[in-house]
Amino acid sequence: MNNIIKLPVSEIKGIGEEVTNQLAELNIFTVENLVEYLPYRYEDYQLRDLSEVRHDERVTVEGQIHSQPLLTYYGKKRSRLTFRVLIGRYLINAICFNQAYLKSKITLHETVTITGKWDQHRQTITVNQISVGPHARNQTIEPVYSVKGDLTVKSMRRYINNALKQYGDHIEENLPENLLQKYKLLSKKEAIKIMHYPENQQYLKQARRRFVYEEFLLFQLKMQALRKFERESSQGIKHNFSVKRLEEFILNLPFPLTKAQQRVKEEIIGDLQSPYRMNRLLQGDVGSGKTVVAAIALYAAVLSNTQGALMVPTEILAEQHAHSLAELFSNTDLSIELLTSSVKGKRRRDILARLQEGKVDILVGTHALIQEEVVFHKLGLVITDEQHRFGVGQRKILREKGENPDVLFMTATPIPRTLAITVFGEMDVSVIDELPAGRKTIETYWAKHSMLDRIINFIEKELAKGRQAYVICPLIEESDKLDVQNAIDVHSMLAAHFHGNWNVGLMHGRLTSDEKDEVMKSFSTNDVQVLVSTTVVEVGVNVPNATIMVIYDAERFGLSQLHQLRGRVGRGSEQSYCILLADPKSEVGKERMRIMTETNDGFVLSEKDLELRGPGDFFGRKQSGMPEFKVADMVHDYRALEVARVDANKLIQSNQFWNDPIYSHLREYIKQTGVIDGEKLD
Ligand code: ADP
Ligand code: MG
Repeated sequence: MNNIIKLPVSEIKGIGEEVTNQLAELNIFTVENLVEYLPYRYEDYQLRDLSEVRHDERVTVEGQIHSQPLLTYYGKKRSRLTFRVLIGRYLINAICFNQAYLKSKITLHETVTITGKWDQHRQTITVNQISVGPHARNQTIEPVYSVKGDLTVKSMRRYINNALKQYGDHIEENLPENLLQKYKLLSKKEAIKIMHYPENQQYLKQARRRFVYEEFLLFQLKMQALRKFERESSQGIKHNFSVKRLEEFILNLPFPLTKAQQRVKEEIIGDLQSPYRMNRLLQGDVGSGKTVVAAIALYAAVLSNTQGALMVPTEILAEQHAHSLAELFSNTDLSIELLTSSVKGKRRRDILARLQEGKVDILVGTHALIQEEVVFHKLGLVITDEQHRFGVGQRKILREKGENPDVLFMTATPIPRTLAITVFGEMDVSVIDELPAGRKTIETYWAKHSMLDRIINFIEKELAKGRQAYVICPLIEESDKLDVQNAIDVHSMLAAHFHGNWNVGLMHGRLTSDEKDEVMKSFSTNDVQVLVSTTVVEVGVNVPNATIMVIYDAERFGLSQLHQLRGRVGRGSEQSYCILLADPKSEVGKERMRIMTETNDGFVLSEKDLELRGPGDFFGRKQSGMPEFKVADMVHDYRALEVARVDANKLIQSNQFWNDPIYSHLREYIKQTGVIDGEKLD
């Protein structure tokens, strides 16, 4: 290992004690830290033709002073200096604020170079920088560093420059030659120099490309190593069951599995039979048929003499799942129980006792399942539905109720692949990317609020055919701040309108869970035909007779959430409709509405959602675990991410990686992340 680059920054010429302390504030301690402190953006001072510059863009131009400068004062110390500049065939205005001293430097007909913001309508540049004379052509792209305290960007440039001069040749390559060649990547030494001193945008792009790959590769190596060692160190249950009996069960289902269900089933069965603990994420769009896949996995676990648990986020869902499972297992002798906080007294004690004796095969429930009193006889498989609604902690407690049970997380919120392989990088991912045949696609329309009357007419027509409708509103009650329709108002409006013909129910998060259940039940038994609700119905609710979904203020929801809501209809054999009521003001809002009307594919929508909202917002504020990259951008560089993942996987699985000296830097990196015991590597 090369130690020169690890010398303290104080060894660099021009860096004394004070600067050393300032740099330490930025976590820069060694020469290596300093040269790897990359700019977060660049100022481009390359000359541009004004005809190519857009309004409000920053630009650098060279021209001749065409008028005597005019200085006006306003207020106490504030001033404005204006003059005209001739640039080729353009005559434009330049304004400098509060720089009265420049007046004496501006001489008619002299050449100047100015940088500033271009106001196309006023043909004016608001000047940030001005220098007398022609444009200096060396280093026209200037790096901008993030700095703190007394450090300035300028001094930072100087320190880095000194460091590179003195130690630049000692920068060590950490990627193996074969990968550099395969992707034609710049060496680390070259790339670092270019990042600090880019001659042009083209070079900068090449240097960035190298760091994007490096960052992704290192990150994926860490995740894949984690996955490998977790697998190998966790003694899971090697489920031993009759495949023949499982296949019989599948043949007796009311429908054949789709190809995607079949593939995913194989992946899960493989995990169950293996001695490793399953740690798998099952993604499938709304209605893709995840429940039956869960049932098959649970059946396999029971056939191998263990118990299964299915945990869901709400009571309504728990009931629905218990019901669907009971139906799917009606030809078997499995015992399935439902445990929620509403199951009380003797019934509860009875279930818990039988569970502990191993007489309950499958337990379905809410977070009630993770309470201390719930003791399994031998828990072999844990499935959680809508996993993103449970915290990591809750999932862990349930897992610990057995001895390394296999774990399957299901989610109907398609997670963009880039996020799935980063945030869940240590998990295996299965995807059901196909809907059962014969589904009618939901027709989606985007309407302005002013069209409400026509929409109500449309709802009435469907109700007259015997169907039901959801009407979703973003808030419960009126709010001064937000101009959004609220569930209570919309409910009273529709209740008055439909009075005597149809019943209108109201559902929102402030109802007690008993009240919610009651409303939901009357909707599913068709005693209520129109359900006005906040987004609490978003997850998993299944009322196949409902064919209309109206969403008020739809622009306020993310694409994935709109898609979830839309998934509440289209569950029966009738044509269903989704109507988005929205008057979006922003372009992004309009774009979202357009995309919703154009596609029913949850994965396409989630990718778009990620693009429009960025990775930080995708899961909402509460979720973290998002890796931070210095140069790479998960959304825009997703292709590199895919490539790096494949490469990392190959490396981690190969013997060569763990032995060959060409990989020593990468091995060292994995060791440093603390993913594995150092011992395992030597
Ligand atoms: P989700 O993935 O949203 O949980 P479900 O498991 O609730 O979807 O399935 C939606 C509906 O599709 C259910 O009524 C289920 O019975 C039905 N279904 C599932 N798989 C198939 C299939 N292979 N062929 C036909 N219908 C299916
Ligand atoms: Mg489901």
